[in-house]
Amino acid sequence: MPLLEIRDLDVFYGEFQALRKVEMDVEKRQIVSLMGANSAGKSTLLKTISGILKPSAGTVKFDGIRIDCKEPHDIVDMGMALVPEGRKIFSSLTVRQNLLIGSYRSKARKKRRDTLETVFNLFPALKGRINQKGTELSGGEQQMLSIGRALMSTPCFIIFDEISLGLSPIVVKELYRAVKRINREGTTTVLVEQDVKRSLKVADYAYILQEGRITLKGNPRYFTEETVNKAYFGI
Ligand code: ATP
Repeated sequence: MPLLEIRDLDVFYGEFQALRKVEMDVEKRQIVSLMGANSAGKSTLLKTISGILKPSAGTVKFDGIRIDCKEPHDIVDMGMALVPEGRKIFSSLTVRQNLLIGSYRSKARKKRRDTLETVFNLFPALKGRINQKGTELSGGEQQMLSIGRALMSTPCFIIFDEISLGLSPIVVKELYRAVKRINREGTTTVLVEQDVKRSLKVADYAYILQEGRITLKGNPRYFTEETVNKAYFGI
């Protein structure tokens, strides 16, 4: 049974249909990439998976349980975490405070000392800056903090939304190394990216969205540049 199973999903904003009959499976321990150009519907799909938007048709199951009518905090409690686009860290709070916010639900709170160690192990740069404010961090460190905060909820499933946006290639490489390590240590992973090359390289399976529909899916090893371009841009 897939950890995440999406069937026949339709999502609307008023009259406008943003997702059409979307189907997606994420098997346990996989890295799955979700790609698509601007306005393809990636954020809409993520918001629906995480309970912020409700679909008008279709189902989303997590670990066999329907979550399409559940609230976001209940979904977090089930073990799903989102690293949001644009990092969304609290700039007036310290690194430590930002991290602790990630463990506010009771299950995670009990383990937070150990989880903090895991996060510092993954991102030693954060440990040295524990009492600094979010604004004092570089873009890459802010992204690390955002990932660390998501890990503080002790997820079994993590979604990264555009982690490489606006960062230098060296930083992106480091972040991807962390993503792979998080996945190897047992957390099922979804990567939402516009950086097609990098994303396909690490993925076990990939989906391309175009205008609200899945236009290509499969093991990226078998994708060609031509099929990807067609699915991505429709040309
Ligand atoms: P990007 O990479 O630019 O973030 P995306 O693939 O995440 O794009 P979405 O943000 O999911 O795309 O948008 C899908 C479609 O839904 C777009 O046509 C967008 O204009 C529309 N849309 C998104 N949010 C709303 C909203 N709140 N109200 C109305 N339409 C919306």
